[in-house]
Amino acid sequence: MKAAAFQYVKPRTLADVFAVLAEYEDGARIVAGGQTLLATLNMRLSEPQMLVDITALDGLRGITVGEHNLRIGALVTHAQIEDSAVIREHAPLLFAAAPHVAHRAIRNRGTFGGSIALADPAAEWPACAVALDATIVVCGPAGERRIDADAFFVDLYTTALESNELVVAVEIPRSGPRARFAFDELTRRHGDYAIVGAALTGNLETDGRLTAARAVFFGTGSVPERARSIEPLLAAAPLDTQTIRAAVEALELEPSADLYHSAAAKRHLARVLLGRLLTRLAADGTGASDASHEGDSHVR
Ligand SMILES: Cc1cc2nc3c(=O)[nH]c(=O)nc-3n(C[C@H](O)[C@H](O)[C@H](O)COP(=O)(O)OP(=O)(O)OC[C@H]3O[C@@H](n4cnc5c(N)ncnc54)[C@H](O)[C@@H]3O)c2cc1C
Repeated sequence: MKAAAFQYVKPRTLADVFAVLAEYEDGARIVAGGQTLLATLNMRLSEPQMLVDITALDGLRGITVGEHNLRIGALVTHAQIEDSAVIREHAPLLFAAAPHVAHRAIRNRGTFGGSIALADPAAEWPACAVALDATIVVCGPAGERRIDADAFFVDLYTTALESNELVVAVEIPRSGPRARFAFDELTRRHGDYAIVGAALTGNLETDGRLTAARAVFFGTGSVPERARSIEPLLAAAPLDTQTIRAAVEALELEPSADLYHSAAAKRHLARVLLGRLLTRLAADGTGASDASHEGDSHVR
């Protein structure tokens, strides 16, 4: 199928973007990497009158390191994150997760901001943003707003963005010396959206406890799901076999079934994944999976 006819504009300034959004209201759609939007146009799931291409907005590009935060521009591609030494050093969770996002061809064009704005419940970046306590920077005609990732993802493909706003950047606290992370997902084939995935962060104390922990699951509900029930438990005792078993048992998730997996199967897979991630984190202190090893994270 082919997309319905639409008009196209490529503004050079944010003010011009807002002017077009105001003129066309619900008839306008922003396009960044186009890796999701163009498919939905071709399938006629969406028929906007006007596509507003934001890729000429240079202010939305680049990764910058501040004193406390890393700022990732909305137009930074998944591949740029995968290849970035700065991301590897200051936000290693993103570095570990990047190879899991689709395939390299899609990662070359798809953008970080596009994925955050789309809020696909099975996508990697929204869950990582919540796990890293990120701030989503959005901009509209009235100026910038900063929204905690925890509050940004509201429902299935629904965010706190107003219709006349766009995501301009994401700010992520720089990884500290005690910071540890773990990431993995279960998929049928490498590059598929996750059946169940999880991003885990926390500070590994000298006595072995994981404090300020966040375990965020994706592919399980309509938004990234933070498993708050296990967080105090991880802070209370060293991360040994007993604590890991207790955390897995305490995991309270009520996943939605999808076309291929029942809610019970997803709940089971979430527990398996949590056990693996905590074990990996306890063993080597980083918990990174090597997504280039085909089969590592596949369901088995
Ligand atoms: C075969 C295939 C497999 C994929 N697998 C995965 C996967 O495993 N994991 C994953 O996370 N993704 C996956 N994707 C999606 C891909 O990562 C997309 O690139 C990403 O979701 C959206 O980024 P984009 O820049 O292409 O956005 P677009 O397609 O350009 O836009 C997506 C949506 O976001 C809006 N938008 C874009 N940028 C902004 C902005 N800055 N502010 C406000 N709104 C904005 C658009 O209006 C549109 O509604 C896959 C895609 C394909 C085709």
